[in-house]
Amino acid sequence: EKKPINVAVTGAAGAIGYALLMRIASGDMLGPNQPVNLQLIETEPGMKPLSGVTMELADCAFPLLRSVQSTTDLEAGFGDAGLAILVGARPRSKGMERGDLLTANASIFAAQGAALNAAAARDVSVLVVGNPANTNALVASANAPDLSPAQFMAMTRLDQSRAAAAVAAKTGAHVRDVERVVIWGNHSATQYPDLTHATVRGQPALKAIGDDAWVKKTFIPDVQKRGAAIIDARGASSAASAASAAVDHMRDLVVGAGDAWLSMGIPSDGSYGVEEGLWYSVPVTCAGKGVYQRVGGLPKPDDFSASMMDATRKELLSERDGVRHLLPK
Ligand code: NDP
Repeated sequence: EKKPINVAVTGAAGAIGYALLMRIASGDMLGPNQPVNLQLIETEPGMKPLSGVTMELADCAFPLLRSVQSTTDLEAGFGDAGLAILVGARPRSKGMERGDLLTANASIFAAQGAALNAAAARDVSVLVVGNPANTNALVASANAPDLSPAQFMAMTRLDQSRAAAAVAAKTGAHVRDVERVVIWGNHSATQYPDLTHATVRGQPALKAIGDDAWVKKTFIPDVQKRGAAIIDARGASSAASAASAAVDHMRDLVVGAGDAWLSMGIPSDGSYGVEEGLWYSVPVTCAGKGVYQRVGGLPKPDDFSASMMDATRKELLSERDGVRHLLPK
């Protein structure tokens, strides 16, 4: 039998965590032959609801679930973790300024970065879901000097899947036949869902859609604001789809995804005029075993794309400025 993989999850008792843990434990994330140990991290008030979730995990009798540990101690929770999914974050509350949210989260993610640095497996892959995800990834990495920045990723996979689903609906294709949709920049309303490289059944997506006004006036804002539309309809934020995107991201990273283009917020290498040290979403391919490679050799973006990519870059820059005083030198 395969050696179990240790998967740490923060915010485990939250709405996303509830959906996520079931998918991980059932084998959806790492495959039907890969046992897992779950290492669940919560705040003190989260421990009681978490005990209910662990009762449900036990009651599912998942054949692949080897052990479940629940803790408020970050180093214990991240101990020897091969995968860490950071979901817990300070929610935006009424009257809270954007800067307050950034600062509150920076301290949470600074502590988590330091604990990962101290206790996680040296080849841990860290996926940040909690918002503001890109800047939280930056803060966590800055506090983990012994781990490579490349080991920290911010999730933009849900945005990618939302964009692909919208193109499928518009063209009547199956979402499986929509490829190479790219999310650039921040996981926020400034993100740029880009169809320039996308294909539908192997043909250029923009040609299949044949409606530039739809792309610019409907598709892009709809993808950017999809989260708000779900809150409006459901009365609660998206949780199952966010969990599903985290499962997809980690599966592709660990198992590999051939030549598929997948979007991830990763540390910039300076390309596209994005300064190094920002966590900016770009297309990558995944070879498996935690290795990803950015898609290179793309033609220079057209003026529209360049301006969209720059707007989301500027937002990330201002987020970094908002937490700079908390970053270790
Ligand atoms: P959720 O599980 O719904 O959301 C958790 C985080 O994911 C939020 O920051 C949320 O951002 C973010 N997120 C990213 N993508 C999405 C998406 N597509 N849809 C919705 N959310 C998204 O929050 P809950 O309040 O239900 O649960 C949070 C849990 O985290 C609680 O149990 C709490 O105790 C715990 N927690 C743990 C901490 C820790 O481990 N140190 C610190 C703080 C909280 P947004 O707010 O922008 O929607």
